[in-house]
Amino acid sequence: MRIVLLGPPGAGKGTQAVRLAQRLAIPQLSTGDLLRAAAAAGTEIGRKAKEIMQRGDLVPDELMVATVVERISRPDASNGFILDGFPRTIAQAVALDDFLATEALELDCVLELKVDEEVLADRILNRAREAKANGHAIRGDDNQEALKVRMDLYRRQTEPLTEYYRSKGVLKSVDGLRPINIVAASLLEAIDA
Ligand code: AMP
Repeated sequence: MRIVLLGPPGAGKGTQAVRLAQRLAIPQLSTGDLLRAAAAAGTEIGRKAKEIMQRGDLVPDELMVATVVERISRPDASNGFILDGFPRTIAQAVALDDFLATEALELDCVLELKVDEEVLADRILNRAREAKANGHAIRGDDNQEALKVRMDLYRRQTEPLTEYYRSKGVLKSVDGLRPINIVAASLLEAIDA
C-alpha cells in the first residue's frame, strides 16, 4: 500500500499516520518529524530547514523530494509506505508520481482529513499551551505568527493537491473532526473501499 495523508496543520495527520502504519505494517514517513530531527542533530539539511520551519514557510521542493525519494527507496518501504506532510506542493506531487513511475509503481490512495479550519488554530495553540504547562518541548512553529503562514501556505500550495488527486481517482476524504478512534476506523474503511 502506497498512501499519502493530506490535511491542514492540526488535522491529526501525525496521530493517524502512526496508527495506520502499525496497522498496515508499513513505514510511516513524516517529513516534518524528519526535518525537526535533522535540525536537532544539526545536520546540513537541518541547518537549512531550521529557520524556514520556524517561520512556518516551506522547505524547497528539491530538498524535500530528494529526502523522500531516498527514504522510500529503502528496502523496508518496498511493500509500501505512508507519507505524512509530503507532498505539500503540486511540484512535489508530480515529482513523487514521476519517481514512482520509474519504478512502475503508483500511489494506491490519498487520504484527506477534512476539518473545519476555524477549529484548527485553537487546537494547535491549545496543544502548545498544554505541552508547555506539562514541561514538554513545544514546536518552534506552534505560535500564532508561524501558524498564520502555515495555514496560508496550506490553502495556496497544498489544498490544490486534493483536486490533483481527485482527478486521478485516488482521493478519499474522511471527516477528521471526530474522535481519534472513529477517524482511524474511517480511514481503514476508506482504504478497503
Ligand atoms: P509538519 O510537521 O508536517 O507540520 O511540518 C513542519 C514544517 O516542516 C513545515 O511547516 C515546513 O516548514 C516543513 N516541511 C515539512 N514537510 C514539508 C514539505 N513536504 N515541503 C516543504 N516543507 C515541509
